[in-house]
Amino acid sequence: MKANYHTHTTRCGHAFGTDEQYIRAAVEQGFDELGMSDHVPWPYKSGFVHHGVRMPITQLDEYVQTMRTLKEKYAQKISLRIGFECEYFPEYMGWLADMKQEKQLDYLIFGCHYDTTDEGGFYFGNAASAKHLVRYVDSAIKGIETGMFAYMAHPDVFLRRYQRVDENVRAAARDISQACKAKNLPMEYNLHDRYRLGEANGNGYPNPEFFEIVFAEGAKVIIGLDAHEPQEIADPTQWNLAMEETARFGERRIDALAF
Ligand SMILES: [Zn+2]
Ligand SMILES: [Zn+2]
Repeated sequence: MKANYHTHTTRCGHAFGTDEQYIRAAVEQGFDELGMSDHVPWPYKSGFVHHGVRMPITQLDEYVQTMRTLKEKYAQKISLRIGFECEYFPEYMGWLADMKQEKQLDYLIFGCHYDTTDEGGFYFGNAASAKHLVRYVDSAIKGIETGMFAYMAHPDVFLRRYQRVDENVRAAARDISQACKAKNLPMEYNLHDRYRLGEANGNGYPNPEFFEIVFAEGAKVIIGLDAHEPQEIADPTQWNLAMEETARFGERRIDALAF
C-alpha cells in the first residue's frame, strides 16, 4: 500500500496547482490512497482571516464538497480521503471535534505551527531559543494527548530555522517521541522542507538526529509529502529516498492509516 495523507490545495493561499493535478500526479506515481489535508480554517471569535496561511472559514463547505465530488470521480483509480491539518488551539478544539463529525471527515493530522492561536501567537517554525522549544513541546504534547489526530505532522518543524542540535533539541525529541508512543501516534517524516531545499537555513527537517531519537524511543513513523504543489507528488525522488531512510523502522513505519 502506497499512501500519502499530507496534501494541500490553493485554498490555503500558499499552494499551487489545481485539485485534480494533485490527484492525477498521485495516480501516475502509483499511490493507492491520497489524503487531502489542507490547513484547517478556525472559527475565530475576532473574525480574523489568516491570508496566505489558511482558507477563510467561509470556504470550508466548498472544500469538503469538492473533495467528495473528486472522491467519486476518481474512485476507480485511487482512494481519496478527506481531512485537515490542524493546530492545537485550546479554545477551538471542541469546535474541531464537532466539525469533524458533522462533515464526516476521514481524519485530521496535527501540525503544531503556532502557540495557542495564530491571531498573533508565535510561529514555531521560527523557534530560535530554548524558551521557544519549551513552548513547542508543551503545545505538541497537549495536542497529542487530545487523541483527535491520526498522526503528528513534521514533529521536528521547530528545527526549520533553529541552528543547532543541542541538549534542548534532544530533550524535545525525547518528550515528543514518548508522548506519541504512549498514544500510539505515528510521527511524520515530512518531505516538504527538503523539496524546498531547506529554505529557512536552519537544521531543516526531517532531521536525522531527531529521528535517531524517535527510533530509539520506539515511536512509529509515517512518510508525508506535505505537497503544496503537484510536482511534489509527481517527482518520486524524495519519496524513494525517505523509503530507504525509514526502512529500519520496519513494522514501526506505517504505510497506510486504518479507517
Ligand atoms: Zn502549508
Ligand atoms: Zn502541511
